[in-house]
Amino acid sequence: MEKIRMTTPLVEMDGDEMTRVLWQMIKDQLILPFVELKTEYYDLGLLHRNETKDQVTVDAANATKRLGVAVKCATITPNKQRMEEYPQLTEMWKSPNGTIRSILDGTVFRAPILIDSIHPVVKNWKKPITIARHAYGDVYKSVDLYTEEPGVCTMTFKGESGEEKTLTVQKVDGPAVWQGAHNKEKSIRSFARACFQYAIDTRQDLWFSTKDTIAKIYDGEFKKVFEEEFENYKAKFEELGITYFYTLIDDAVARVIRSEGGFIWACKNYDGDVMSDMVSTAFGSLAMMTSVLVAPDGTTEYEAAHGTVTKHYYRHLKGEATSTNPIATIFAWTGALRKRGQLDGLADLTAFADRLEKACLDTLGDGVMTKDLAGLVDEGVAVTTVTSADFIAAIRAHLEAAL
Ligand code: NAP
Ligand code: MG
Repeated sequence: MEKIRMTTPLVEMDGDEMTRVLWQMIKDQLILPFVELKTEYYDLGLLHRNETKDQVTVDAANATKRLGVAVKCATITPNKQRMEEYPQLTEMWKSPNGTIRSILDGTVFRAPILIDSIHPVVKNWKKPITIARHAYGDVYKSVDLYTEEPGVCTMTFKGESGEEKTLTVQKVDGPAVWQGAHNKEKSIRSFARACFQYAIDTRQDLWFSTKDTIAKIYDGEFKKVFEEEFENYKAKFEELGITYFYTLIDDAVARVIRSEGGFIWACKNYDGDVMSDMVSTAFGSLAMMTSVLVAPDGTTEYEAAHGTVTKHYYRHLKGEATSTNPIATIFAWTGALRKRGQLDGLADLTAFADRLEKACLDTLGDGVMTKDLAGLVDEGVAVTTVTSADFIAAIRAHLEAAL
């Protein structure tokens, strides 16, 4: 069989631990035999980020802007424990995802992959819930500080015109912690636009929630910008029969649980981080959650929503065959290949992405699955629990049959 040709490369960002192992297996078994793969490769593995003083992350993000499409493997965000685990680290490097998101200034849309044999923990959920996570600022671009003695903390903004604004944050009588966070009106506006556009593209209602009763100015700005931007999309929403709905985050949580799904829930950066794990777990497994970052200029970066699956990696290093689920990582690849196909007018590349996704779903339909899913299927469904390698081999068999 002749391999499917690509014209423009996509940006490939390799990562860490178990997902790095899966990455290679996916490429070797499911992509390279069928596609004349063209990628610009960036190794975002922790040690290479360290060697390049994290320049490789910035380079990968800039390449994504240039080429328009990227696929990213999960990566370690170092913390104190990782600094001990990897003594060669010269700095506690920032989250690569945070760096990429702030360069691309995009919105992250996360949606679960549903299969017939697994029903969501929330009985009334019938359709996927897509979380739209603002990908810039707030706590992810904040500074924090620990102080020991009694005193006062103030916040000052110095305008380029020379104008200054100062606020007292708090006066304290002992040790305290502080945080300075920000967001930009421009970023909030592109977040709003990305959400309204994605709602139109996928014909789903859009919900948005913040806590503007408490953070009157900060969250109030998000609410206001969404209201202003909605004016530009209102007619299209009416035409499609979809709605925009704003509510407080705690009310939203209650309504989401009682809903039947099938809508987009837009969340601020941190809310989106937390809620997407809650939603994906309730739908089944973190390993079935897809994630795509969409920038205002249409640049897209695909990844899995889960991390590097550290526990499985340590078992893998001991020589054990693990049953780690590669589905979300495969769907990151299919998302990127499909997008590349659409942008470059390569119908066979787009069709290949569809077939590979179908091969995954058909394999699951046969009851062949990894351990995380096997524990979730409905009673009475016959299941064969397999290792990652056997699962990928089963997907390949379906793919070859389809091609
Ligand atoms: P994680 O890698 O998502 O794994 C947490 C647990 O979820 C696993 O131990 C496993 O449970 C289950 N799980 C996740 N993905 C799975 C898969 N594909 N197949 C089967 N089970 C899966 O989260 P973490 O352990 O909190 O974080 C590990 C590292 O990933 C950290 O260094 C963190 O910085 C990084 N991280 C990266 C990203 C990213 O790059 N996008 C996102 C999140 C975290 P069991 O052990 O019970 O089987
Ligand atoms: Mg997270």
